[in-house]
Amino acid sequence: MTDPHQPLSPDAIARLLTDTEPYLSCDECFARIDEYVEHTLSDPSYLDVPMDVHLAGCAVCAEEAETLTELLS
Ligand SMILES: [Zn+2]
Repeated sequence: MTDPHQPLSPDAIARLLTDTEPYLSCDECFARIDEYVEHTLSDPSYLDVPMDVHLAGCAVCAEEAETLTELLS
């Protein structure tokens, strides 16, 4: 019996865990940036790793998040 749902290879997992390159597209980031900023403001311990990683590596979205944070805070 072979399982059609292949587990992620160690390589794929390592890629997902690498925090040096964003793996969310800017479109995906923008789609949830409002929610992300709201969560971050209401709960300082809130973590959204894909967003955090993207914002750390993308100046455009980071600026957008900053603007939203100022607007909402
Ligand atoms: Zn971006």
